[in-house]
Amino acid sequence: MDYREVETTREYVCRLETGRDWRAQIEDFADEQGIDAAFFQGLGAVEDAEIYFYDQNRREYDAVTFPEPLEVAACVGNVSLLDGEPFAHTHAVLSRPDGSALAGHLNSATVFAGELHVRAFDAELVREHDETTELDLWGL
Ligand code: ZN
Repeated sequence: MDYREVETTREYVCRLETGRDWRAQIEDFADEQGIDAAFFQGLGAVEDAEIYFYDQNRREYDAVTFPEPLEVAACVGNVSLLDGEPFAHTHAVLSRPDGSALAGHLNSATVFAGELHVRAFDAELVREHDETTELDLWGL
């Protein structure tokens, strides 16, 4: 395990804008605030969610889209730099009217409502290509 000590510099509460993309809003916010490293948690509601699943054998993401209203029962993620831009690595548990859940790596979703808590750190976290997993992982 690699690690680095970081200190929280700022914390925010955010209300996401209806009709815009969940992840893109977090990335735009990080860009505006000059945040190069952060963790966030959130909840709310979305529709048209696109979930990625990383196939560990093929080393490729498979995408599946759910064109329906869903609750964001829980969302957790982090912000770091990918190709010099803030990237919001976002995972979510989404729920249906009957209470059943689907979950995964949230690539995109149209916000109906969303609330976030963001904790920003005094560090610059940069994603680098990892040969073992073929993912862009933190270079610590
Ligand atoms: Zn992921």
